[in-house]
Amino acid sequence: MATKKKDIRALTKTQLRDFFVKQGDKAFRGNQVYEWLWQKAAHTFDDMTNISKETRQMLEDNFVINHIKVDTMQRSADGTVKNAVRLHDGLIVESVLIPTATRTTACVSSQVGCSLDCRFCATARLKRMRNLNPDEIYDQVVAIDNESRLYFDRPLSNIVFMGMGEPLMNYNNVIKAIDKITSEEGLGMSPKRITVSTSGVPKIIKKMADDDVKFNLAVSLHSAIDEVRTTIMPFNETFPLNDLREALEYWYAKTKRKISYEYVVWGGINDTQKDIDALVKFCKYVPSKVNIIEYNPIDDGEFQQASNEALENYIATLEKNRIVVNVRRSRGKDIDAACGQLANKS
Ligand code: SF4
Repeated sequence: MATKKKDIRALTKTQLRDFFVKQGDKAFRGNQVYEWLWQKAAHTFDDMTNISKETRQMLEDNFVINHIKVDTMQRSADGTVKNAVRLHDGLIVESVLIPTATRTTACVSSQVGCSLDCRFCATARLKRMRNLNPDEIYDQVVAIDNESRLYFDRPLSNIVFMGMGEPLMNYNNVIKAIDKITSEEGLGMSPKRITVSTSGVPKIIKKMADDDVKFNLAVSLHSAIDEVRTTIMPFNETFPLNDLREALEYWYAKTKRKISYEYVVWGGINDTQKDIDALVKFCKYVPSKVNIIEYNPIDDGEFQQASNEALENYIATLEKNRIVVNVRRSRGKDIDAACGQLANKS
């Protein structure tokens, strides 16, 4: 029976060095191969041109490189690019490049489908099939960095974990991917340019604070009233706002870093003065800012963007209370690449 070859990128640098020593080669060979795998993002062993043919063959006999493949790439009229990414087992996730005048941001996926069940989100309809491995997350970033250089003549400037999946439900692999993205042996990006966006898993938010992570934290809040939030994000029943608040206070006490709240306003759901007052109160617990995000309807029409009047009311009340508020226009709507629309439709 043929033995299954191991994914070489599951090995740490030390393990790779040890492997070469066991093969009677020099540990240094492990460094060279590691550099090819991460910094140079080699897709095949044959790409490793400073490694001898025999060694490349030996690697081929023992390992695979489970590199992602961009199956289809769509470009929106506003410049947004959406990649449908095929994984080694045939499953597909999506990632998005969002260009603005000053930055290009990669929005990457962390799971195939999602563990959670937000009712306004297209991804929630795909059940969670599996977590992405660190290299599969890393590869999405590399693919978007290449596209940014190709189409916009500049490297990727920011990364948000806001694609498919709940990143804190795949915490260990997300952390390993970020370690590679920020390492000089990977892409050398500053963690300050990375934002992990969660629906709010209190235990893991506290763990992140304990782990002294250096990236930014965003929380998809959408309501600061438990009954309303549970209706639109049913897992709020398990992780109610009080637990979330306590975890965010812990995060701030340890990291001294502000939190961003992502917030969509829907007509008839969270567009009343009571909803606004609850948000203002919640924002005062921990230094924070609010990003109001334009909603992108998914096909069933159950959720609709609130009226301009309701949005203006949110903005005015937050500003009056000296809470920083930004309004995020949606990008890539014509190719279903906007927030909450990723559902492997292409
Ligand atoms: S909004 Fe995020 S956490 Fe909620 S179901 Fe969609 S992908 Fe999952």
